Amino acid sequence: MLDLLTDLASSPIAASPSFNTIFQNIMKGLIFDIKHYAIHDGPGIRQTIFFKGCPLSCWWCHNPESQSSRVETYTKKKRLDGRLFEKQEKIGYYIEADELFRTIESDTIFYDESAGGVTFSGGEPLMQPQFLGEIAQKSHRAKIHTALDTSGYASQRTLLKVLEYIDLVLYDLKIIDDELHRKYTGVSNKVILENLELLNQSGKDVRVRFPVIPGITDTSTNLQQVQSYLTQLNQIKNIDILDYHDISRGKYERFGKENKMGDQRPGPGVTEEIKQQFENLGYQVSIGG
Ligand code: SF4
Repeated sequence: MLDLLTDLASSPIAASPSFNTIFQNIMKGLIFDIKHYAIHDGPGIRQTIFFKGCPLSCWWCHNPESQSSRVETYTKKKRLDGRLFEKQEKIGYYIEADELFRTIESDTIFYDESAGGVTFSGGEPLMQPQFLGEIAQKSHRAKIHTALDTSGYASQRTLLKVLEYIDLVLYDLKIIDDELHRKYTGVSNKVILENLELLNQSGKDVRVRFPVIPGITDTSTNLQQVQSYLTQLNQIKNIDILDYHDISRGKYERFGKENKMGDQRPGPGVTEEIKQQFENLGYQVSIGG
């Protein structure tokens, strides 16, 4: 999987003519949504760009349609006057950096009024490092605040390259035990923890995002391990607690994907209790980001 994250532009195949053709194509980014006026993806009013493709496959993913790095189709069904209508719809589309930047720029008045900006989310934006770098650089040069919402599963080189144009990193921290991390997300957390340690030393503004997933991340063992790990990272001061909700259950049905969470729901008061635990350790904590 790490092969996917390798910086293609610097690889030996980059010199071949066929690579240049491919490279031209991949300079377009694959996204599946743009959300205007977002208020939970960083400070102020933001525009959130959802990149398509993710190297993880978290059991609780709220955007299962974000995981594949390809444009997908599904059958949309609608019943009208007793008749069933079906239509093929696409998930994801390629967009050029210039076009995407024009969309980002169109909300500048809202960013200025609210100290907001643009957030690159997904999926995993770092899976498309050239495209992300280009759009982040354009936004940064236009003095638009940039936030990267990431699982952290990328090479250090990729992360550092993009970081130059990123003002705020929203960094997911899910499970400390590597075996459990593999089980519930499909990948090891080794590179994720290494990258968080790198960010801790980078001087960048970082908010750690902890998803409360019933029976998976909210166990007393994992909570204790997450808190003990974070206290070693002395520059991390802010935590966002992300609530689990099952509103995405319909998406799993619609897109024909397996929902491994079943009917799991968070216990009453669990999120508040976890918030309190982090606050007791001296963190600035918010629920929902
Ligand atoms: S990292 Fe995020 S987008 Fe990727 S599978 Fe996990 S929850 Fe979904």
